[in-house]
Amino acid sequence: MVKEINKLGKKYFVCEECNFVYKDRKIAKKCEDYCKKHHSCNIEITKHSIKI
Ligand SMILES: [Zn+2]
Repeated sequence: MVKEINKLGKKYFVCEECNFVYKDRKIAKKCEDYCKKHHSCNIEITKHSIKI
């Protein structure tokens, strides 16, 4: 499950597999699906991750 977190009043979504943080739930979900399936990250997805 994609984890939802609140930081400074904004919502972010965390891939529970790799812990990358995304602003978009859909991308976080995509990342998690990919991580679970391949046990590694897809750079095309993780490039959308953000630092908080
Ligand atoms: Zn991931």
